[in-house]
Amino acid sequence: LSAHYQKEIDLPAETSCGHRYSLMINAGLAIDPEHSNKNSCDGVGLYRTEFPFIIRNQFPTEQEQVDLYRVMLEAYPDKPVVMRTLDVGGDKPLPYFAIVEENPFLGWRGIRLTLDHPEIFLVQIRAMLKANMNTGNLHILLPMISELPEVDESLRLIKQACFEVGDELGTALQRPKVGVMIEVPSIMYQLNELASRVDFCSVGTNDLTQYLLAVDRNNPRVASLYDAMHPSVLRALHQMGQQVQALQFPTSICGELAGEPAGVLLLAAMGFDSFSMNSSQLAKIKWLIRRVEREELQSVLMDALQCDSPKAVRVRVHRFLEQKS
Ligand code: PEP
Ligand code: MG
Repeated sequence: LSAHYQKEIDLPAETSCGHRYSLMINAGLAIDPEHSNKNSCDGVGLYRTEFPFIIRNQFPTEQEQVDLYRVMLEAYPDKPVVMRTLDVGGDKPLPYFAIVEENPFLGWRGIRLTLDHPEIFLVQIRAMLKANMNTGNLHILLPMISELPEVDESLRLIKQACFEVGDELGTALQRPKVGVMIEVPSIMYQLNELASRVDFCSVGTNDLTQYLLAVDRNNPRVASLYDAMHPSVLRALHQMGQQVQALQFPTSICGELAGEPAGVLLLAAMGFDSFSMNSSQLAKIKWLIRRVEREELQSVLMDALQCDSPKAVRVRVHRFLEQKS
């Protein structure tokens, strides 16, 4: 079956009615299969920089980070590479940086931690900027933003890093594009203010689902309640899709929902047109997009939004998917 999908991997992600989608990949470790799809995707929509931090036994130095990031940026010289600043805490502990908390998912994670330790943030941004000198394709993404002052403080530090690196290399640096992860529900209600501060946003449906439903995404006891197909999650995403379109705020979806056939179809119907996924999903999602029309997706979405349960949503979307395969 995968050979079947693979046949169209180099064709554009375009619906039968001619709408073109951008499909990107999520990456972690630089040396791995994600690179096999290098030419058939539109770039890296999410590079989770925490992985190289997690596998070491101390913080990587600025130069070590420069080397790592350069490999990534140079693998896609003509395409955007969205690098997310360190998102540790929650379910991602660092072996050499103890965090002891009652509620890690509501605690010190992502941008909260790095803004409290600007030296960690600045070293990482400086490394990204240096790695970007030849290619210029770096985009910076901020994880776990829950309020605007975090955005302002991050932008201030990024500006400072640009100035420092520019000074060190003897050349004026332009600030790369900066974006915010939409994964904490509060920030969904400040898209307007975000759009005037940053260049793009990226929706993290994994955490957004966890925080909207108050369900720990890793707790097996409540796993059956964790479902991005919950009609309320879909309504929240739908509303967001309409708002970002009205604001012309460039948005992509990088949570797992974008790499799921049923998920990507609903997201496409909501008006999102850029999706980032594990590279193993790329061929299948592209194949699927090439077989649908936007109008038929609309009616699937309208039905899904009226469903009473995640299960009912799945039944509805799978009925549609079966016709396509
Ligand atoms: C998300 O939360 O949806 C996301 C893409 O980030 P992570 O899974 O790394 O938390
Ligand atoms: Mg997340």
